[in-house]
Amino acid sequence: YGVDLIRNFSIIAHIDHGKSTLADRLLERTGTVEKISGSSSQMLDKLKVERERGITVKAQTVSMLHEHNNKTFLLNLIDTPGHVDFAWEVSRSLAACQGALLLIDATQGVQAQTISVGMLALEKNLTIIPVLNKIDLPAADPDRMAAQIESTFGIGRDEILTASAKTGAGVDEILRAIVDRIPPPSGDPEAELKALLFDSSYDRYRGVISLLSVQSGRIRKGDKILLHHTQKKYDAVDVGVLHPEETPTEMLQAGQVGYLACNMKNSSEAQIGDTIFRVGESNRGPLDGFQPTKAMVFAGIFPIDSNDFPKLEESIKRLTLTDRSVTIQRESSTALGQGCRLGFLGTLHMDVFRQRLEDEYDQQILITNPTVPFKIVYKNGKETIISNPNDFPDPQDFGIGKVQEVHEPMVKATIILPNTYLGGMINLCSNHRAEALDHVYLDTTGDEPRVLMTARLPLAEIVTDFFDKLKKTTSGFASFDYEDVGYQPSDMVKISFLLNGRPIDSLAIIVHRSNSVRVGRIWAKKLREVVPKQLFEVAIQAAVGRTILARETISAMRKDVTAGLYGGHYERKMKVLEKQKAGKKLMKRIGNIDLPQEAFYDILRSN
Ligand code: GDP
Ligand code: MG
Repeated sequence: YGVDLIRNFSIIAHIDHGKSTLADRLLERTGTVEKISGSSSQMLDKLKVERERGITVKAQTVSMLHEHNNKTFLLNLIDTPGHVDFAWEVSRSLAACQGALLLIDATQGVQAQTISVGMLALEKNLTIIPVLNKIDLPAADPDRMAAQIESTFGIGRDEILTASAKTGAGVDEILRAIVDRIPPPSGDPEAELKALLFDSSYDRYRGVISLLSVQSGRIRKGDKILLHHTQKKYDAVDVGVLHPEETPTEMLQAGQVGYLACNMKNSSEAQIGDTIFRVGESNRGPLDGFQPTKAMVFAGIFPIDSNDFPKLEESIKRLTLTDRSVTIQRESSTALGQGCRLGFLGTLHMDVFRQRLEDEYDQQILITNPTVPFKIVYKNGKETIISNPNDFPDPQDFGIGKVQEVHEPMVKATIILPNTYLGGMINLCSNHRAEALDHVYLDTTGDEPRVLMTARLPLAEIVTDFFDKLKKTTSGFASFDYEDVGYQPSDMVKISFLLNGRPIDSLAIIVHRSNSVRVGRIWAKKLREVVPKQLFEVAIQAAVGRTILARETISAMRKDVTAGLYGGHYERKMKVLEKQKAGKKLMKRIGNIDLPQEAFYDILRSN
């Protein structure tokens, strides 16, 4: 292929605006796949969890052939996920493109992720083709939405296409615009090889399969290649394009996107953002890489039966081969035994990982409350980032102790919502320690003006139930996105929960001092519901250091009581626990108190 016949593009959109549906239509229209029927729709969403939740987790890449003016063009579609947690995937996918279709639902208009992904594409100097989708719907209002696109991105109305990914209307015009407006990749096929490694997956038989975007030169089957980051050498065993299945080719050249198998055994050798050279030609320096991912939410994961830890750890390790944005560390807890502390990009990412562990690896797990990374600043100038509440300094370490202060991660939130809900949303944000609240009007043409609200919020405030509250406050009409804006000093405290004076380590949480009493009371009450009666009285306490915030008491059990000690949703619990051997082995001792593991299961699932 001559480079001038290649177009590398991506579809970017707010979730549910029709990206996967449009990708299906493009694959059909170019004859890449047979007509897609209802059940097998959305070719690019491969994981079960993606289908169930209708989200894209892992970016996929596919090549299509398209006839235009008697020439055959090679169109490489690089899919991107649609959720804030996966912004990093969006960024690396865009690095392999020259253009992007910015898809906007003509009934919904510009939403929070429309802005974040659109701005990312503008920053990378991509050609943007705005497409108003779902014009088959009676509620579509393309004129009004075109005005929003114009005011948000400064794109002229004459550049905006309209389409229905459902009926296929406008898809030919989209294909024409891809060919006409997006520039071909630049890069000299005669120059030395430089390729960007932008994704990888693991194949049991062939080892690591890398996705690459060739920036200059050619890579052929049989070439001896060198990875810049590790300085390791490999033989290119197989190269090819994704059509949409892997299709071997003799070579990939400048401008092309494809896959590479090179007998790489360990996924950690395929560093995302690395540069691939031919052996002996690496003297011209690597390409600009990517920012490494940063875990923003941490949680401990423990097996329900501690004997299952080796199996759980093995499953986690295998799953992280397909999702290397997850960080792993071992963790041991007196209450829950041996486990792993995992770091995720956000709470949805954490949920998706948990669900994949359950679906694909059949693991039954306990997951602790999520925590964000806090920075501890010491008086001697040293700083550490902690990802486990148990590492939080004690109250006596502050003041005359060696800790100067604690910093917490902050985000800039963008919320788009109908004007009616603005007051409620301002309240909600204020209750979550928001600063610098501001808003502007996106359009004033409709009968219900749309507002773009921004605020600075502690990340810790949005990893719990903020999304649910936001949905309720705005009847589901708001969209939300956020970006990391660094750390700031904050008055955080660690709440410990004690049973007759002994702390339950895996339940400790870090909260802002102003929330500590409220949170302490809620959790002490929850604990009272799940801790079974003992032969003696049990005191449940929530404490910050030596200060008790809340106390609940469980009276001693009477001698004649033998059954019905433990209420709750018994059937559901038994179902989850059915694999477990009965009884004793699942009991945990905290001091002199026997606690069934299912008590932890209940309390940790109850929020
Ligand atoms: P994604 O989250 O951006 O990948 O969105 P999907 O492609 O999964 O589409 C979200 C929903 O909108 C699905 O129920 C689609 O069937 C529907 N949808 C997508 N495009 C159109 C369209 O042009 N018209 C109509 N009526 N529905 C559409
Ligand atoms: Mg999708």
